[in-house]
Amino acid sequence: MTGLDALNEQVRADLAKLAFGAQTWVRPREDLYDVVIVGGGQSGLGAAFGLMRERVSNVLVIDENPAGYEGPWDTYARMITLRTPKHITSIDLGIPSLTFRAWWEAQHGPAGWEQIDKIPRQDWMAYLRWYRAVLQIPVENETRLTLIDPAPDGTWLLHVEGPEGSRTIAARKVVLATGIQGGGEWHVPAFIKEALPKGRYFHTSAMIDYAALAGKKIGILGAGASSFDNAQYALSLGVAEAHVFVRRTMLPTINPIRFMEQSGLIGRFTALDDDAKYCVMASFFERNQPPTNDTFQRAAAWPGFRLHLGSPWLSVRETADGAEVVTPHGTFLFDALVLSTGLVTDPGLRPELRLVASDIARWRDRYAAPAAVANPLIGDHPYLGAGFQLLPKVPEAAQKLHGLFAFNYSGLISLGLSASALSGLKYAIPKLVDGVANQLFADDQEAALRDYLAYDEPEFVSVWPAEEQAA
Ligand SMILES: Cc1cc2nc3c(=O)[nH]c(=O)nc-3n(C[C@H](O)[C@H](O)[C@H](O)COP(=O)(O)OP(=O)(O)OC[C@H]3O[C@@H](n4cnc5c(N)ncnc54)[C@H](O)[C@@H]3O)c2cc1C
Repeated sequence: MTGLDALNEQVRADLAKLAFGAQTWVRPREDLYDVVIVGGGQSGLGAAFGLMRERVSNVLVIDENPAGYEGPWDTYARMITLRTPKHITSIDLGIPSLTFRAWWEAQHGPAGWEQIDKIPRQDWMAYLRWYRAVLQIPVENETRLTLIDPAPDGTWLLHVEGPEGSRTIAARKVVLATGIQGGGEWHVPAFIKEALPKGRYFHTSAMIDYAALAGKKIGILGAGASSFDNAQYALSLGVAEAHVFVRRTMLPTINPIRFMEQSGLIGRFTALDDDAKYCVMASFFERNQPPTNDTFQRAAAWPGFRLHLGSPWLSVRETADGAEVVTPHGTFLFDALVLSTGLVTDPGLRPELRLVASDIARWRDRYAAPAAVANPLIGDHPYLGAGFQLLPKVPEAAQKLHGLFAFNYSGLISLGLSASALSGLKYAIPKLVDGVANQLFADDQEAALRDYLAYDEPEFVSVWPAEEQAA
């Protein structure tokens, strides 16, 4: 047996040695999942595996996308490779046969691993599909959560929509593994939304038909990697000119994540106090990340590529010939605008959280930031507990929020680069698993204690020969 078949066997053997699949300790409840994970991307799959390893097995993952198309990788991401260094491990949770490297080497050999600089984007998605299949993670696709409803008995009723219409799913714990925008929304500046008709501008997270823009001119706003990913992708599909506009007079050159990865700032972030957490993240927001060199060079190599530094968009306007963009250095006309303007985190923006959003504690409720670093975008983030649980703004709301976990990018300020970030997942998943499993156990504490105190099954049943003779 060779290749992936052999690897699948290896995974099964490794899991058997770890007693994976042993009987759950969670008390059974009828018609109720112990945990429903919303989102079947890398965070949701890794969280499900982590819980299953902890013998929390009555778990369901739901995702709005068709199977195998969860998250950005094979949908709207347009870079050739991941930006993360290839040696970072994540959802394998320390099991060598579950790493991307093992999966890659099973198909391309160790020499093939040496040959790649970074992980090819679509191969990362293929790895996630394999991971889900080999671990038999229960995922229900094409099922979208529309509302989270706290039930009076402390459980949750999830209103979902799927191919068969609307229904509810009941769960004791809900994990929102809804991605980097899953704690808020993709950001489109209001002055653009207000001035232009839909179809004239696109956020980089949208499915953009660049082939339909062949021969045309596009303007891209933002200094992030996605600007250059989109420029090179659009130009490769025949777009005549792609102009990238950046507010700063220089592109960022330093990537704070690379420092975080090797300095303990990811793995040990939660050991910091709130002053230090805020300070680290204020600087992270301020510095941003540069594009990768290969993406930038790929974009810049096209004759139709233009870079405008020190060029914020002062205003935009729809004209008979397209979208007009005014910058401090001139006015430009484009057939379409592409916005690499990132995301904002704010539970109040999530429609599915509308029954609980106002009860959720934010950073601004729990921490008064020094004026020098205060940033309202940070203040909007939820102030999470050590296990990614949403905490109440006031004590009276504690019961209502009990059992709801935000395992998405909104954990950034409380738990650092963790959920939704490849560099952080290996540290984040065990914290989430502890948080969820501890709650499941503590909720049943009375029954657990009663059973323990009543436990009287003899284990020692041997008879000493002298005793036998005496009898
Ligand atoms: C273009 C791009 C490139 C990136 N490159 C890198 C990189 O190189 N390295 C790195 O470390 N990080 C990168 N990231 C950041 C991060 O790793 C990815 O966003 C990653 O996909 C996060 O994984 P996730 O599982 O948390 O979220 P996702 O992969 O986004 O998965 C979340 C899933 O939940 C689904 N969902 C959301 N809401 C609902 C709902 N209400 N009901 C049902 N389903 C729902 C979504 O549709 C999605 O399928 C990148 C992000 C983007 C956008």
